[in-house]
Amino acid sequence: MSAAREAAGAAGAWGAEAARRARAHPLLRERALVGGAWVEAAGGGRVEVVDPGSEEVIASVPRCGAAEVSAAVGAAEEATRGWRARLPRERARALRRWFDLLAAHREPLAELVTLEGGKPLAEARAEVDYGASFVEWYAEEARRAYGEVIPTYGHGRRVLTLREPVGVVAAITPWNFPLAMVTRKVAPALAAGCAVVLKPAEATPLTALALAALALEAGLPPGLLSVVTTDRAGADEVGGALCDDERVRKLTFTGSTAVGKRLMARCAGTVKRLSLELGGDAPLIVFEDADLELAARGVMASKFRNSGQTCVCANRLLVHADRRDELAALLAPQVRALRPGHGLDPAATQGPLISRAAAARVGDLVARSVALGATPLAGGEALPGVGPRFYAPTLLTGATPALPICGGEVFGPVAPLMTFRDDDEALRLANATRAGLAAYVFTTSERRAWRAAEALEVGMVALNDGGLSTEVAPFGGVKESGLGREGGRQGLEEFLEVKYMMVGGL
Ligand code: ADP
Repeated sequence: MSAAREAAGAAGAWGAEAARRARAHPLLRERALVGGAWVEAAGGGRVEVVDPGSEEVIASVPRCGAAEVSAAVGAAEEATRGWRARLPRERARALRRWFDLLAAHREPLAELVTLEGGKPLAEARAEVDYGASFVEWYAEEARRAYGEVIPTYGHGRRVLTLREPVGVVAAITPWNFPLAMVTRKVAPALAAGCAVVLKPAEATPLTALALAALALEAGLPPGLLSVVTTDRAGADEVGGALCDDERVRKLTFTGSTAVGKRLMARCAGTVKRLSLELGGDAPLIVFEDADLELAARGVMASKFRNSGQTCVCANRLLVHADRRDELAALLAPQVRALRPGHGLDPAATQGPLISRAAAARVGDLVARSVALGATPLAGGEALPGVGPRFYAPTLLTGATPALPICGGEVFGPVAPLMTFRDDDEALRLANATRAGLAAYVFTTSERRAWRAAEALEVGMVALNDGGLSTEVAPFGGVKESGLGREGGRQGLEEFLEVKYMMVGGL
């Protein structure tokens, strides 16, 4: 049966409901937040926000530019002076109040994430929990920015280090996790004593504005967090202004590798600190001794969450040739059972892709790969009956590294299965990419697991598990997947400078 007939229904039918819910939404803010004031853009322009499930316009936000960036950075500079001087426990308490408000608004926040991002409500709720967990974690970590005392190098002298906030932070976030990518940056920055000017993705500004509204309600000082909204063309102007401003001391960015490289180059002009969380191309390796039920669960969790639009999702499935048919037989019915539909529809398990262009791109990659010999065991088609941004969850067998679908980050619900003959070949294929974010390994051999984990050129390895994202662990990549880590103890360090002090005359 085709995935189109398995669909939850036509997503367009939810358009009026999506618009109604957005209009009535208690956390809807349709202005930018600059220096604690809700403002229009000086240029007067506005940007429409569209529900990707139905393509209905649900709200609009200001099209800000360099003027709003400059005002927001000025306010941030002002706010950071008082904020960094507060006792760590006072900063911790303010963050804790913000966390409590996020938890209390779980349902309305999840609804906003679904309305502008498209993912099913169940996934949006999980994102709120995940996103809020960073605020809770960094409320706790705010008190642990320890320096150290270093054994002295000379009589009458002592050597120590202090940890100090880097200063004003610019944060640029993507649309695939409109809530969690914001809190994962903003919470550690605030905990460290910094102020933040945030530019959310043009497709998903509403969640960011709602988060900021709750931060104000929690009592965070005005100007400490500004949110500057704009459209795609304006991203260049706003991003450029943030990169060029010498008052901004750090840029933290999550998004595509191409944009990350441009921002990195532009930040050279003011020698900013950088955290970059860029694209992935995660291999998921199933060794010949793997528990295949577990591996199939891992594939389903990693590959199809958010319709494959996550930077850590399994991008290439590498399975030992002797186990391929067995794994494919386990996966195919599970992939076919996924139900594409509007995120508000409780029957839907798969939302739309973020744009028509994204859906067309995925369709093109699949079509060209099938023409070159790959075989769809599930899906392999667009779903116009569900909506113009939908693509069927797809399992392709017969994939090889030469196929377009294996040539980089797919960012869509397509799992290409390729085979290997021995461990060395598996690891060589896994590492044959310029990305280095995540990898997944399924094996029952402890020796194989360790060997693979240490040989894989990535920042994160999941053994016998399809999930990696948690606030307690350092998330990030190597190679062209980026710089720095988010989450864990390490996430705070990204926003701290080390100051060394030599105390003499003792
Ligand atoms: P995607 O392709 O997934 O949308 P992008 O890297 O294009 O990833 O977008 C991630 C974030 O980067 C978004 O907030 C987007 O607006 C922003 N962005 C895109 N182009 C620029 C730019 N030239 N300068 C600054 N930010 C940009």
